Amino acid sequence: MLLLNLVFLCQLALSPSVAAPYQGTHPGLNAPHTGSSPRSSRNKLLLISFDGFRWDYDRDVDTPYLDKMGRDGVRAAYVTPPYLTITSPSHFTLLTGRYIENHGVIHNVWFNTTTQEKKQYYMTQFVDSYWDNGSLPIWITAQRQGLKAGSLHFPGTAATYKGERVKVSQVEPRFYEHNNETDWRINVDKVIGQWFYEEDLDFVSLYFGEPDSTGHKYGPDSPERREMVRQVDRTVGYIRDTAQRHSLSDRLNIIITADHGMTTVLQNNSVDKITLSKIPGFDFRDIEFQLLDYGPTGMLLPKEGMLEKVYQVLRRGHPHLHVYKKEDMPGRLHYSNHPRLLPLILIADQGYVLNGFFPVQTNKGEHGYDNQVMDMKPFFRAVGPDFQKNLAVGPFETVNVYPLMCHLLGLTPEVNDGSLEVTRQMLITNKDLGSNDNRDVQWELLIGLSAVAGFLAVVFVVTTAYTMLNRRKQRPDSITEDLNGEAYENSTF
Ligand SMILES: [Zn+2]
Repeated sequence: MLLLNLVFLCQLALSPSVAAPYQGTHPGLNAPHTGSSPRSSRNKLLLISFDGFRWDYDRDVDTPYLDKMGRDGVRAAYVTPPYLTITSPSHFTLLTGRYIENHGVIHNVWFNTTTQEKKQYYMTQFVDSYWDNGSLPIWITAQRQGLKAGSLHFPGTAATYKGERVKVSQVEPRFYEHNNETDWRINVDKVIGQWFYEEDLDFVSLYFGEPDSTGHKYGPDSPERREMVRQVDRTVGYIRDTAQRHSLSDRLNIIITADHGMTTVLQNNSVDKITLSKIPGFDFRDIEFQLLDYGPTGMLLPKEGMLEKVYQVLRRGHPHLHVYKKEDMPGRLHYSNHPRLLPLILIADQGYVLNGFFPVQTNKGEHGYDNQVMDMKPFFRAVGPDFQKNLAVGPFETVNVYPLMCHLLGLTPEVNDGSLEVTRQMLITNKDLGSNDNRDVQWELLIGLSAVAGFLAVVFVVTTAYTMLNRRKQRPDSITEDLNGEAYENSTF
């Protein structure tokens, strides 16, 4: 029985309810994680995208808050987005870790080649079947594994995946004013103050539509773009201050990156613009369906039997136009093997845009070019309890952000095209995150509780011996009853 009691004490010392790590003093931190959260000391994660923030946008602008974030955390030289370097496809790569030919969100525009119907970027956000075609975004994986996820304005937020949506969300309103700094701060307050702090979410993705819009309108070398980068920088400062005010800084990892960069469109009169209708031998009557006038890339479905003719005409059509049958696309672009891709894919050289019937594009800045073009590369910063401090790392592909996020959240990732090994150097140690710190706390608790258990065992032995001795003195026949009967439920401790 003494042995049984000691076993009980040891179990008590080891039980999760007793050995749980200390909780913070704020409501968002105190609330225990429910469900099957795999690691109780896991930190929260905020993924932020500033659309079109090129890797070098901080070089000609004073950016004190981004600089401080770099000193406090990790900064990459740049990151390489997937091809096609446009918004919805590239953001879905961040959320899934898959190249575009593997996740299937191949364009900002949903289209149906039979009905000729097209939905532009905003309306495409609501076409579930366009997004939900085999690759689960991290929100759904997190929810399935017991975590709480949220998303504000991030591409893909509005869609349902295998019958499930990100549970906490704010979908971008139509005709949203992307550059309103007051709105940005309201959104930051919502994500940090309400979602992370009050509602105890584990993961949130947060999207800003700038500096993309300004880069398109005024060009990446304009003073307007530089001013917008200052606004982004102030917002980064506001995000970190807001986390600090809610005492979240030591439990919140923050990753800031973007979907693509931006380059200047060559516009002066000496530029030989690419206009398909002007290419000798090209005839729109040979084309069943076209996706043109969206910057530097396009896709064509020639009518039956016309593919080879169209291909031969276009491949010699313009010195800055590259035409591929989709199966011949360079493998490094990972933009070949998906049924949604049309048979002919057209890519313009940096600075050129593709026009169909006549030039209609007036943007001073564009993206969508080959992801080897340096101007297409976004920036990357990360800060938080799991990241190294003041560490500069080399470039890497953005397919690797997903396995990093899964690791930080303690999630088992879905099949993906990235690797944790690419980013592991950014982390404080190579240990299995979330378990070692916890183990230290548990070990200290175990030692403390063992000491208490030892003391109680001594008290128990002395008390029992004393009681038995007394009873023996009073009722010499009761020893057997004591040993077999009520045991120690009524004993003195
Ligand atoms: Zn974008």
